Amino acid sequence: MPHAYHNPVSIHSGRGSLERLPSILAGRRVAVVTFPEARELGLVERLEKLLPGSLVEVIDDVRPNPDVAHLSALYDRFWQSPDACDAIVAVGGGSAIDTAKALMVGTASGRFDELVDLLSAGKSFEPANVKPLIAVPTTAGTGSEVTPWATIWDSARQKKYSLHLQATWPEAAIVDPELMLSVPAGITVSTGLDALSHALESVWNVNANPVSDTFAISAVQDIFECLPALVKDLRSIELRERMAMAALKAGLAFSNTKTALAHSISYEMTLRYGLPHGIACSFTLPIVLEKAWARSPDRDRTLQRLFGPDLRAGALRLRDFLQGLGVKTEFADYGVADAEATAMIARAMDGARGRNFIGAVSA
Ligand code: NAD
Repeated sequence: MPHAYHNPVSIHSGRGSLERLPSILAGRRVAVVTFPEARELGLVERLEKLLPGSLVEVIDDVRPNPDVAHLSALYDRFWQSPDACDAIVAVGGGSAIDTAKALMVGTASGRFDELVDLLSAGKSFEPANVKPLIAVPTTAGTGSEVTPWATIWDSARQKKYSLHLQATWPEAAIVDPELMLSVPAGITVSTGLDALSHALESVWNVNANPVSDTFAISAVQDIFECLPALVKDLRSIELRERMAMAALKAGLAFSNTKTALAHSISYEMTLRYGLPHGIACSFTLPIVLEKAWARSPDRDRTLQRLFGPDLRAGALRLRDFLQGLGVKTEFADYGVADAEATAMIARAMDGARGRNFIGAVSA
């Protein structure tokens, strides 16, 4: 069967690649969107030195899991002066990059309410104004630097919106592992497992293709090898670099396939049980691997390259891997009773992401 793969983001990677930023921007005036600790870490100062005269604004009030309630004020303030900058540079984890993706899309009114209405309608739309985005991840996890998606949470309404337009592909990604050296152990684990989840979800996916598989398999192998070692040696630039590349490859894989069942389950676990994204989308991976088995000979072959001939034994090893990183792997561990877990999986199968799962058709 013929396949297509498309990703328009130009990627700059490797130690010290942040230094490429001025040449990528070529004199454009930028607003930097970043996380609050970026100042203490010296990142803001470094950007100010790197971009003399062209850094016009630093928005460092990014909160984890960008929520409608908080984004609204940031957005309305940003679009009050639509000509203040020519582009946005997001420097941070997925929350900073997704916040920047929400900001980059200008509505006709310049008001966030209008964006939420458009997202609620669930249809694609042409933004009235767009600021190009350069994404600089400082965690090795979300892959948001090479995807067009942003997750916008609405905790008050217990909902989430997915923003994805042609316009929200970043123009460029700068993946510099030196920026990740300061990530603490817990966030190193949860973001690394987010990347693992992206890679596996793109394999047990109805949209998988040989190109996405190539990225995904390599990402999974690197994460299995590096993540436990990195947690014991957080200052290792070699391991940080391999994890940064693994998260990037996982991002390139799911940028074309989208995610699947584990992510579909995760949204409810984050909204209702407050689980951090990386844990919410990875603790079910062994359960989903067992469900993926024997659905498609082609998918079984790819999964067997990762987990060996016996996928049930592979699911046990995956459970051990997660538990070795301190992750609890049962719904009950998070206060979800068996009947509720079964109902949650059924709801997740019916969700847009759940329907990408190879098991969904015959589940
Ligand atoms: P995050 O961006 O929320 O960051 C987690 C914490 O790490 C924050 O407190 C932040 O301040 C800190 N941090 C970030 N970089 C650091 C560094 N270099 N040193 C020290 N501390 C640092 O976490 P995340 O897991 O990267 O992103 C999660 C968000 O990304 C969620 O909102 C999720 O929905 C979204 N997401 C988006 C996509 C996508 O394709 N758009 C994919 C997966 C997840």
